[in-house]
Amino acid sequence: MARQVELITLGTGAALPSLERQTAGYLVRDWMGNVVLLDAGEGVQQRLRQADVSPTKVEFIAITHGHGDHINGLPGLLGTMQLSGRKSKLTIVAPKYIADPIREMVEANKFEQQFPVEVIDVSGDEGSIVLSTQGRDSLALSWFRVCHSIEAYGYSLTWTLGPRLESPVEPLEARRLLQEGGEGLKVIRPFKLSYTGDTSPCDSVVRGASGANVLIHECTFEASMQAEASQYGHSTSVGAAQDALRSGAGKLILSHVSTRYEGYEALQLEQEARSVFPNSILAWDLARFVMNV
Ligand SMILES: [Zn+2]
Ligand SMILES: [Zn+2]
Repeated sequence: MARQVELITLGTGAALPSLERQTAGYLVRDWMGNVVLLDAGEGVQQRLRQADVSPTKVEFIAITHGHGDHINGLPGLLGTMQLSGRKSKLTIVAPKYIADPIREMVEANKFEQQFPVEVIDVSGDEGSIVLSTQGRDSLALSWFRVCHSIEAYGYSLTWTLGPRLESPVEPLEARRLLQEGGEGLKVIRPFKLSYTGDTSPCDSVVRGASGANVLIHECTFEASMQAEASQYGHSTSVGAAQDALRSGAGKLILSHVSTRYEGYEALQLEQEARSVFPNSILAWDLARFVMNV
C-alpha cells in the first residue's frame, strides 16, 4: 500500500471569514488511518462536509492558540460528533489557557457520556507526544512556541518509519534482519509536516520546522506591509518564505490570507514568496496535497 499523507486545507483565511476563505483548519490523513485536524475555525464543519470527510473520523485536534479564527469551530464540531453517535476516543491538544476552557465545555455538554475526550496541555518552549504506532512506524505530534500577539504554538507531525527489506527474503531471515539490522535493509527518512499557526517570522519557528518536508506558514500580508505584520504578530509573504528557507523546508504552503486579497489578487503573495523560496504555493480552501512518504 502506498505510504501517502494527504493534507486538505479547510480554511485558509485570516481573522475574518469570507465566502472563498474560511478561517483556520487543516485536515491531515495518512496511510495508517490517522486523521488529524490542525485548528478549528468556525467554518470547519462545512468544509469537512465539502471535503467528504466525516467529523466522526477526526481522532486528534491540535489548537495553536486562543484567537477565535482558530478555535470558534470546536464547540460545534464536538456537538456534531456527539449527535452523530461517535464512540471512539478524541484527543485534543491545546495551550493550557485554552485546554482548561475546553475541559469545561466537554464537561458542560456531557460529551464524555458519548465518547472519551482527552485534553492535553501544551506549554513550555517545545514538547512532543506519540499519537499512534503501527508496527515499527509511528506518528508523533510536537509543538514549538511561535511569535504572535498572545501565547501561541506551532505543530509538527512527524512520521518515523522502521527499516524495510530491500528485497524479499525468507521469513526467519526477514525477522532477524528487522530485529538485528544488517545489509539488505533500507532506511527510510522520517517525513515531517509543520504548521505555524499565527506568527511573525522568528527563530523558534525555524527551529520547530527544521527540515520539514512541508511547511504551512501563515502569510497574512503582502511584502510591503511589514510594519502591520510585525505590529500584529503576523507574517508577510517574504517573511514566510525566509522562515521556509532558514528551516530547510522542502515545500512552503502559504495560508492565513487576509480578506484584503480577493480571488486572484492573492497570487501576489505567492509570487513574492517565490522570489525568496521558489517552491512556494498559495493555499486555497479545499485544496488537496497528496505526498508520498
Ligand atoms: Zn489567525
Ligand atoms: Zn491569532
